[in-house]
Amino acid sequence: MKVVVCGGGIIGNCTAYYLLKHNIKCTVVEQGTVACAASGKAGGFLARDWCKSDGALHEFAKFSFDLHCELAKEFDGKQKYDYRRLEAFSAEINRLPKKQTTEAQNNKVPWVNGTHIEQRSIQCIGKAGNVAQLHPFKFVNTLCEYSKSKGAQFIEQDSVCDLLSENQNLIGVKLTSGLTIDCDAIILCMGPWTGLASKWIPNFPSIHGQKAHSITVAPKIPIPAQAVFTDYGQYSPELYPRPDGEVYVCGMAENPVSSAQLPLPQDIHPTSNSCQKIKDMTDLVGDALKEGQVTKSQACYLPLTQDGLPLIGKLKELNGVFVGAGHGCWGILNAPATGKALAELVACGHSTINIDAFDPNRFT
Ligand SMILES: Cc1cc2nc3c(=O)[nH]c(=O)nc-3n(C[C@H](O)[C@H](O)[C@H](O)COP(=O)(O)OP(=O)(O)OC[C@H]3O[C@@H](n4cnc5c(N)ncnc54)[C@H](O)[C@@H]3O)c2cc1C
Repeated sequence: MKVVVCGGGIIGNCTAYYLLKHNIKCTVVEQGTVACAASGKAGGFLARDWCKSDGALHEFAKFSFDLHCELAKEFDGKQKYDYRRLEAFSAEINRLPKKQTTEAQNNKVPWVNGTHIEQRSIQCIGKAGNVAQLHPFKFVNTLCEYSKSKGAQFIEQDSVCDLLSENQNLIGVKLTSGLTIDCDAIILCMGPWTGLASKWIPNFPSIHGQKAHSITVAPKIPIPAQAVFTDYGQYSPELYPRPDGEVYVCGMAENPVSSAQLPLPQDIHPTSNSCQKIKDMTDLVGDALKEGQVTKSQACYLPLTQDGLPLIGKLKELNGVFVGAGHGCWGILNAPATGKALAELVACGHSTINIDAFDPNRFT
């Protein structure tokens, strides 16, 4: 069976990895480079049971979290992609500084010692048994190297620009370079750009991209394995200390735009001031960060669907077309379960994982 995966982000790479379990050596086509978009710039925070309010996503996310544990064992995730368990805390940031009390000294998160922090608000919201983290760029590239070593092909700096079909069956794809690839199946994993498939397939569901910014800071003193989710009104930065010593901080999302309005990955740059605003907010959290240096400023697009649930499944409009896209803010977490489900669908015609709620045909 000949399979093309369109998109070399985390969803495309997890799918390529699980296809190998069915002896399918797919071809991954990536318009930029592997993990050049959100999958390389995300936080990499994983929570086993934080999708409770999302119904169908809850069990799926738990399963995917457990798959991440298995993958970390298989690939030595601790060494290769900074996988580790950590704790998570919430903390409110006040607009005005507060006089520090003895509560600050009893704080279980001593590096969150800024004068603007409401010390009473600091709560543990995730224990090491249920939360973890990884470095998304390193994770995706670990899978990519493995898939290549097992015979999967990767074509970078080229994009799928059309699908070729006969009698409602997919027979191939056309690339911008002029190359055509014969195939029986394509899996569309184009993140926020997936909505562009409406040019090739009628009634394709719309997808939006929401620009979000992030920075990494090298703190003055080592920060323990404690993620912090702040509450600061409209902008509430999330801080993830990483094993390499840096602290990843994200926030500052803009209004979503349609797939057609998105720039190419190489043309995505941080909006002026957004990263500075994240740093300004980070400075309020604690002295170690205030005195730290910004080592990276970046932006990328979150992939969003109309109802907030991802699209995972087979399309009815054209035989041989599958979708894995629209994972919102939990795409790193849910990528292994998505890849496994899609690989099973392609190879066996059905998935052992319940993906009914994510049917990409649900809007028609
Ligand atoms: C700031 C931020 C922080 C985040 N933090 C977390 C987190 O801590 N935990 C978590 O679980 N999730 C997180 N997410 C969400 C997560 O990053 C995304 O859901 C996930 O990366 C989406 O992966 P993807 O593979 O679908 O899309 P992408 O990473 O966007 O990859 C899609 C790829 O498809 C390629 N492509 C598009 N069109 C074509 C074409 N026609 N031909 C070939 N290639 C094409 C693109 O170049 C791109 O590389 C975060 C997101 C953001 C924005």
